[in-house]
Amino acid sequence: MSFDTIIVGGGIAGLLTGAILAKNGQKILLLEKSSMLGGRSNSIEYKKGYIVDFGIHLIRYSTKSSIYKIFKKQLGEKLDIINCGDIKLFQDGAFHDFPLSMRGLASTDIFNDEEKKAFGPILVDILKLKVNDYLDVSVPDYIKELEDKHGKLSQPIKDFLVVVANLMCVSTKTEMLSSGEFVDGIKTGSKAPSGTSYPRGGWKAIIERLIEIIKENGEIRTKSKVDSVKIENNEIRGVNVGSEFIEANTVILAIPSKSIFDLIPESNFSPEFVKMTENIIPTVGVFMDFGLKEKISDHDGTILTRKPFTMSVFASNLDEKIVPEGEQIYTIFQPTELDVISDKEKIKQVKDNLMNILNEMYPDFSNKIIWHRTSAGIVDGAVPFITQHRNLRPKVKSEIEGLYFAGDSYGVPGTGGEIAHTSALFCAKAIFEDRTKLELLT
Ligand SMILES: Cc1cc2nc3c(=O)[nH]c(=O)nc-3n(C[C@H](O)[C@H](O)[C@H](O)COP(=O)(O)OP(=O)(O)OC[C@H]3O[C@@H](n4cnc5c(N)ncnc54)[C@H](O)[C@@H]3O)c2cc1C
Repeated sequence: MSFDTIIVGGGIAGLLTGAILAKNGQKILLLEKSSMLGGRSNSIEYKKGYIVDFGIHLIRYSTKSSIYKIFKKQLGEKLDIINCGDIKLFQDGAFHDFPLSMRGLASTDIFNDEEKKAFGPILVDILKLKVNDYLDVSVPDYIKELEDKHGKLSQPIKDFLVVVANLMCVSTKTEMLSSGEFVDGIKTGSKAPSGTSYPRGGWKAIIERLIEIIKENGEIRTKSKVDSVKIENNEIRGVNVGSEFIEANTVILAIPSKSIFDLIPESNFSPEFVKMTENIIPTVGVFMDFGLKEKISDHDGTILTRKPFTMSVFASNLDEKIVPEGEQIYTIFQPTELDVISDKEKIKQVKDNLMNILNEMYPDFSNKIIWHRTSAGIVDGAVPFITQHRNLRPKVKSEIEGLYFAGDSYGVPGTGGEIAHTSALFCAKAIFEDRTKLELLT
């Protein structure tokens, strides 16, 4: 059997790209090295009756998200999502409404009346900002610019802007974060019915549906590690999986950009591409999942803390079917420096600290735990730093004829998993248009 396109990597980016192309008539072969599909977006069945995602796993921007639009426009299906409730900030021993929505702004007590009044014009400015002009501007520089225009901002307003940037970019390296990327997130979120949502049935439901769509017009092979990509005269010829050579003139590497050179020698690319690709820094952190013997909170939105910056969610308050009746699943995440995730002692320190925060937020928390898991690792492929914003990461179409990329470290709009989803659309569109000379409507 011959294939129009081979996709290397069965994470969400590979699966989404494959599904779009399959729906548009392409014969797809998707090769995944592990025994499971979905990559970092998969969920597993854990203990009895729990569906557990990787960390907190929400869809940014609800119906305005790339993945929702891909399902609707490219796959002709309505993605079943549940909108999250408002965000709360746990600070000084109490939960506070977070003024990221108009309702939150009206009811919050983290701003006094004067600050609420002052914040209105600032928000208007933020929503009017031209994203492309601010990709190279760091968040602190942007805050300074706001102060030049609106006068000195109060500490609660500045703290709030920093927390929102940390939340949007999943990083606390505020001095490096791109204000264009962070504001783009606020702008998109402001048009959505909710800032975030959760797929009914967990991410597993999305992964399973994408697999079905691809299989309608192609093949998926797990435990199939691609060892190298064959290129002749700057054109793609196929891929090698062990001793098998599979021919195709279009290959998508739906793997993190740092792994490209494991499959294709650097000498095939320009020095600029190599430099851009090698230096991409991912978001990393420590996350803890808890199975709780009873419901300890009804809150159905993200919960934030500021020092340290953490985010947490009761996913079962969004979809109670992902836990056994009467029980609850709760996940907390703290972004960290890169060195933490490979150091057991540092992970333990973060974990102990998270347990203290949890027992402060929910007295008696420890006594409600049935099981818990701690993990540490890469979260998003590229932190939206000023040095690696969307225009400074590799594009989905490469310099090599027939070679494309998809995944959360490539140069498309968005932050976090949204990059992976958007890259799938950009990648499928580029391939479709290169091959058919017709436009893929988006
Ligand atoms: C704890 C955690 C929390 C997160 N929270 C959120 C969230 O709330 N919202 C959000 O939008 N995103 C979130 N993300 C990020 C999101 O999961 C990722 O951005 C997304 O899953 C990346 O998908 P991908 O397909 O680009 O990469 P991956 O998931 O890494 O997929 C790449 C796939 O390629 C395979 N592969 C690699 N090399 C080869 C090879 N040589 N041959 C064959 N196969 C190969 C890998 O096995 C893998 O399956 C979170 C991630 C984590 C880990």
